[in-house]
Amino acid sequence: MTRETLNEKVKRHLARRVVTCQVPLALDRGTVSFTFDDIADSAARDGARILEDRGVRGTFYVCGGLAGTAWDLYPLAGLATVADLARRGHEIGCHTATHPNGATTGAKRYLRDVDENARILEPVIGQPLSTFAYPYGAIGLPHKLALQRRFLACRGIHGGPMSRRADRGRLEAVALENASIGEAGIDAVMDEAVARGAWLVFYAHDVADRPTRFGVTPERLAYAVDGALARGCRVETVAGLLGNGASASDMRRSAR
Ligand SMILES: [Zn+2]
Repeated sequence: MTRETLNEKVKRHLARRVVTCQVPLALDRGTVSFTFDDIADSAARDGARILEDRGVRGTFYVCGGLAGTAWDLYPLAGLATVADLARRGHEIGCHTATHPNGATTGAKRYLRDVDENARILEPVIGQPLSTFAYPYGAIGLPHKLALQRRFLACRGIHGGPMSRRADRGRLEAVALENASIGEAGIDAVMDEAVARGAWLVFYAHDVADRPTRFGVTPERLAYAVDGALARGCRVETVAGLLGNGASASDMRRSAR
């Protein structure tokens, strides 16, 4: 292994493992958030419908610069759809404008991409973007330190239910993807969240009968939402939980 790759490895490890901004969680019971990255047209349509049919809402991490394109993996929802999701009470979060990889993109360029996403999306949804999800779950330390000042929270793609406290710079999350979790796994992680009075953040991508390897079937998504509600969990958006009644922008200002 060359010295450079060792350095890269250490940096990645630090960015992910070092808790850089711990915030207390005051949870009265197990809480579950359903989040969708990119966002696939199918998630905006069928994912949102599955949540709404059960009276709950999700968080959709949108790449504004790619909205409405065919993209690599699946067609992405257009800006009119994003606006409609926001009107129906879903949270629209930031996923950068063009989906750069934080492990290989310098912080300055990466943060410009985040700014660009806000410039595109904030007029569409009529409010600030208050939470963030790292594309590919890839986190650079300077990126993380800057983003945790800017957003209420930044979501990664590793970990499990969070109890008592969370790292604002890297919320833990569990993949809700058919390729990586089945009904037994969903039950186990939700039981753990309930037992610990913890916050479980699921993330998914496309929602389709034959999903990509990053996607979930409508049936499995419904199974998870029904399971959360049957267990008496609070189902809340990321900003809704962290905002705790105050508006996200108020929280963001007070966190600076
Ligand atoms: Zn993504």
